[in-house]
Amino acid sequence: MTTTLEPTTQVVANPGHGESFTEHMISMEWNEQDGWSTPELTPLQNLSIHPGMIGLHYGQVAFEGLKAHRRADGSMGVWRSADHALRFQRSCARLAMPELPADVFVSVIDQLINADQGSLSDDPSHSIYIRPMMFGTDTSLMLRPSRTYRFLLMAFVAGGFFGENTESVSVFVSHDYVRAFPGGTGNVKIAGNYAPSFLAQREAEAAGCQQVVWLDAVERRYLEEMGGMNMFLVRGQGADAQVITPQLTGTLLPGVTRNTILTLAERLGHRVGEERITLEQWRRECADGTISEVFACGTAAVVTPVGKVRDRDGDWTIGTGTPGPVTRALRTALTDLHHGLAADPAGWLHATR
Ligand SMILES: *Cc1c(COP(=O)(O)O)cnc(C)c1O
Repeated sequence: MTTTLEPTTQVVANPGHGESFTEHMISMEWNEQDGWSTPELTPLQNLSIHPGMIGLHYGQVAFEGLKAHRRADGSMGVWRSADHALRFQRSCARLAMPELPADVFVSVIDQLINADQGSLSDDPSHSIYIRPMMFGTDTSLMLRPSRTYRFLLMAFVAGGFFGENTESVSVFVSHDYVRAFPGGTGNVKIAGNYAPSFLAQREAEAAGCQQVVWLDAVERRYLEEMGGMNMFLVRGQGADAQVITPQLTGTLLPGVTRNTILTLAERLGHRVGEERITLEQWRRECADGTISEVFACGTAAVVTPVGKVRDRDGDWTIGTGTPGPVTRALRTALTDLHHGLAADPAGWLHATR
């Protein structure tokens, strides 16, 4: 292990999302005989790979995304890393890849955050986005699972996913493409799920929207999720409002944020529900005022209000088209927990060791 590296001190002022990498990375290798190697912390550097590497050709690549935030006392808190570890295991297992023990996953993240936390400014809207990933490294173009793997951990400083604003976004319902299908890989976080969504995302952007809404692949009517975020609907108003999200049918990614929001909404006194919701029902309930708010949520999106829907059968506005009170309260409850400003009975915020 490299132990002579100095901690990062370079603060990133305007990080954007995905390009302001921190200075270090962690790498581990796996083979059947020896299992996982000792994690190695090094400066972030290019890889040298064989052109015939299995992961590159056949997409044996799984990843995660989670965040660390600076707490009021200056220490770092990693958000639900143990839960992300379990999802990473499920994603790897789905691609016939080895599992990384959850305690190793959690501890290498602590190690990287301890080395690179100096990159994070005091701006509470900034965070460190942590990207663990694993891929098959055999040199072989035979169609089979790799017998050797590499785990990499890198991170970048993140501003807002949708820029610095928390204004409402517009979404575009995709009818031409689907994201996931029963028996497929929609419920795991693997690289192969994302390139096929880029064309739909481009279509959404051409229609003036920031995100795609995916429908189920079989009937093409049930709401599933958005590009890299789950969705929620708010029925009714005020304290009586019900907080609803599409049911996990095996084709949706079970977001850690989705799970958090379900718990936080209950703590705020709302009834919560997981339902199968059709596009027609969504349109109708927005038109008659039953649905007053819609928001997207995820590690990158945090809680992002949705103001407008564009659909081939006509566009509509949700509520007043501006961020609603339930959405704003849930966003605040979540970001307060991220920064250690609220009671955390579930122990979601993990102190780096
Ligand atoms: C990562 C992701 C989410 C959000 O999951 P979180 O654990 O909340 O970050 C939702 N949908 C898709 C397709 C994703 O890739």
